[in-house]
Amino acid sequence: MSRKTKIICTLGPATESEEMIGKLMEAGTNVFRINMSHAKHTWAAGLVKIVRRLAEKRNEHIGVLFDLTGPSIRTGDLPQPLTLVEGDQVEFRKETTTATAGKSTTVNYDGLMSDVSVGNTLVVDNGALLMHIDVVEADRILCTVKTPGTMGSRRHINLPGVRLNLPALTEKDHKDLALAVECGADYIAGSFVRDAAHVRELRNAMKTLEGDAQIIAKIEDQEAIRNIDAIITEADVIMIARGDLGTEVEFEELPLLQRRIIRRCHELGTRVIVATQLLESMISNPTPTRAEVTDVMNAAYEEADSLMLSGETSVGRYPERCVEALVRISTRIERSGGLGFGQNVLLRDERQKTARAAATLADSLPGARLVVLTHRGILANHLGMLRPRTAEIFAISPRDRVCRQMALTRGMTAIKLPFSTSIEETIQNVTKYLLKEGFVHPGNPIVIVADILSDHFAANSILLHHA
Ligand code: PEP
Repeated sequence: MSRKTKIICTLGPATESEEMIGKLMEAGTNVFRINMSHAKHTWAAGLVKIVRRLAEKRNEHIGVLFDLTGPSIRTGDLPQPLTLVEGDQVEFRKETTTATAGKSTTVNYDGLMSDVSVGNTLVVDNGALLMHIDVVEADRILCTVKTPGTMGSRRHINLPGVRLNLPALTEKDHKDLALAVECGADYIAGSFVRDAAHVRELRNAMKTLEGDAQIIAKIEDQEAIRNIDAIITEADVIMIARGDLGTEVEFEELPLLQRRIIRRCHELGTRVIVATQLLESMISNPTPTRAEVTDVMNAAYEEADSLMLSGETSVGRYPERCVEALVRISTRIERSGGLGFGQNVLLRDERQKTARAAATLADSLPGARLVVLTHRGILANHLGMLRPRTAEIFAISPRDRVCRQMALTRGMTAIKLPFSTSIEETIQNVTKYLLKEGFVHPGNPIVIVADILSDHFAANSILLHHA
């Protein structure tokens, strides 16, 4: 039985060569991510060409994900890093002002002073420095340093619990979005999505450019958590971006939030990615820590669709080994079974109820395979969300793009095959293909679910036959 949990690898200096991308594919990568926070346009476009070329050679549907930077708050440029000790006062000021304190830096967001209040915590560099906000003025804030450290230029700022009035997309995001569409991205991720309107804004901006990527909403702060149902409903895929989210909430809350978001994604029928620090120590070590193995196993046990590697593959020393580790850990836990949130999927219409009946039937027949005929991938993704316990799922679509947009769906093998005018012929062709590729063996039950089974009328159908 093939691996169900899908793997996303972030490309970077450690993995930009054709040889290395080929190795990551061989190891089991399903989707490659380009992080636009660190990518020049010519470099990103070159990587997409390599991925497409190699995937075609391997006859695999491998997706490309462009991850937009989003409206992150950053400190300004400093002539040299500031060394800070506990109790120091630091000023954060608008870019148009001059320093009034010895230790001072600008911030790239003028709205900061209106959004924060005295008593809020300001976090610099993903938790490396914690500060308490003491004074808020029209064009500056003053903070007391709570943990010592060094503050360099353009460091990321988080404000846990503060509702920020940042835009959904920056000027840079719009330019990067245009590139993503030009490169034919399969998925586009919006960072710091705080409500459903942000997801709509990104989707509309993409559609204006005539893109047809799926939209991933990255959940990175408490505001997004408050609006989680609306965001899950609006997005095609949710990413639990544990890097920023882990800074924005108390760390002991993070595993609970992960589980709650995964459960809600199942209920509402939206795919979900668990991201960041899955194998962080493997950036420099050849084997994962015991805690990392347990964390990866937990995410696969929760039956997330995909697990995402960031620094591990973009700058790490052992990118291939990281993919191999995810493959080993997830296939092992899949043999033991998962948490079963797929049982909670809300069935909203007859098509979804038909899919449930097909999954139940296939799971009750030893050696059965599920086959879904899908034009846009919607029925296939819904079937995947039900998390059939034993039956493997094969999604048949005549379109490359649709096949690639199922690359991050748990338990799904996408196959590009044309649909014939007669349904009998389509089923014969699919069965022949599955036998030829060794996906089924003679005699295996095949449960076909489709909404196009009649030539004369539209019908939701389940068909059981044997290979
Ligand atoms: C994260 O914060 O976990 C994340 C995936 O976002 P980025 O790597 O873009 O900061």
